[in-house]
Amino acid sequence: MNTAFITHAECLKHEMGAHHPERPARLAAIEDQLIASAVGQHLTRFDAPLATDEQLARVHPIEYVRAIREAAPEHGTVHLDPDTAMNPHTLHAALRAAGAAVLATDLVLERKFSSAFCSVRPPGHHATRVRPMGFCIFNNVAVAARHAVAAHGLERVAIIDFDVHHGNGTEDIFEGDPHVLMASTFQHPFYPYSGTEAPAGNMVNVPLAAGSGSREFREAVREAWMPALDEFRPELILFSAGFDAHVEDDMAMMRLTDADYGWVTEQMKEIAERHAQGRMVSMLEGGYALSALGRSAVQHIKVLAGLNA
Ligand SMILES: [Zn+2]
Repeated sequence: MNTAFITHAECLKHEMGAHHPERPARLAAIEDQLIASAVGQHLTRFDAPLATDEQLARVHPIEYVRAIREAAPEHGTVHLDPDTAMNPHTLHAALRAAGAAVLATDLVLERKFSSAFCSVRPPGHHATRVRPMGFCIFNNVAVAARHAVAAHGLERVAIIDFDVHHGNGTEDIFEGDPHVLMASTFQHPFYPYSGTEAPAGNMVNVPLAAGSGSREFREAVREAWMPALDEFRPELILFSAGFDAHVEDDMAMMRLTDADYGWVTEQMKEIAERHAQGRMVSMLEGGYALSALGRSAVQHIKVLAGLNA
């Protein structure tokens, strides 16, 4: 069983303005590094399907899904929040991104693949139940988690979020949900200024100061995430895989390296092998320094695919 790689050409057509950091070139940077590293030849590629209203409504009220459909412009750009906009292709890109989450979950839980990576945009972890925010429209990783529970009957799903920004949307959706444990690290204080005030018991939030690097990150994973995950015994590991805590990424002020992304994936793979039959599904979130994004995503994918040994 190898690794599925899910993307779609429509995810390249979503654009939020000429100088917006969340841009189509991000996906191309990952493709370039998959070729340069020869990792791409070991993956099985799939086109992302469109998510259905039923799949989205497990996470967002159906009124929200309808409002997004209605907001989609025929021409030009419409802003949903100061950082988040829709062009005429955005609706389909967002439906593909959430649809990738569903397909990836199906492929892994039907045992066709042991892991899957979704190279999709827009990202999802800032989208709350009722609000688009921070480049995100539908919460893709949440759609995967709810699909695993509702369609496959899983009892316990872990969401691992190593994006430099706190996944406030994912927390909003799952706080107090006994089916989900969310483990995250994020720069704090920093956008979206959440995650530190009395988080629910199923949230393992580790705020890290600006300037934190490998040492602080690895300590958080070993001392906070791993014991909580071993206690929770997830049947599936989902990643909100953002690569913007990289030292080369000037969106934030953390100092992770390519190797840290391989390392954290190895640690989570150990958890997956102990409790979840090795099953892992990863959704792209942030990462804006193109070269660092491509290289770091490939380090992550390499471990998902067992190509690092
Ligand atoms: Zn981010």
